[in-house]
Amino acid sequence: MRTQIRRRRFQDRLRQNYQRGLEMALTDSLTGLYNRRYMSTHLPGLMNQAAASEKMLALFMFDIDHFKKVNDTYGHPVGDEVLKAVAHSVSDVVRAVDSVARMGGEEFMVVMPDADIEVALRVAERLRQAVQETPIAEPRAPDGRFVVTISIGVALARPGEEPDALIARADAALYRAKQSGRNRVVLDPADAPRAVANG
Ligand code: GH3
Ligand code: MG
Ligand code: MG
Repeated sequence: MRTQIRRRRFQDRLRQNYQRGLEMALTDSLTGLYNRRYMSTHLPGLMNQAAASEKMLALFMFDIDHFKKVNDTYGHPVGDEVLKAVAHSVSDVVRAVDSVARMGGEEFMVVMPDADIEVALRVAERLRQAVQETPIAEPRAPDGRFVVTISIGVALARPGEEPDALIARADAALYRAKQSGRNRVVLDPADAPRAVANG
């Protein structure tokens, strides 16, 4: 009887360790979002699925504005809290079918299957607003809290496009968002004419 319980506990622990190992390999431990490895593995499949079903797929890259200043002003642990709060906001805004990853540092990726330009831009804009409207509590801040913003670059997958090429276009749009003043959503201009054509 006692041996059985012990064996059972041993097996439970093995299973827990295995589960935790799997989660660690695919998720970011700070935010609980997917990690870069997960996205590298799954984005090609998501893009293939979209192409096969002739559905659109939107991808955005976003990055926290002046994040270095948050760390410099309040310290790294507060920066980590900001990363968690931003991750929370994204998870609230995106759809269940969307994938969100922390790609490293303060840079994130959202993949939205079956999302056209209109849907993608609406979600991106809602995300930008959600972050801006979620202040971080901080006793040292003037009002006991401070606000962070994000810049978002959006691109829509083209038939046959390589994942890296799509990411590069979203990255370029993000760069434009930063250049043009931050706290904004920028669509890859190459995708814009389709938005006009769609009315
Ligand atoms: P920009 O508006 O152009 O994006 O400016 P920025 O300050 O956000 O950009 P920059 O790339 O200069 O700084 C990013 C900072 O993010 C620097 C680094 O210390 C910080 N950082 C990266 N990873 C982490 C992390 O895991 N935790 C914390 N607290 N900070 C991090
Ligand atoms: Mg950055
Ligand atoms: Mg930044």
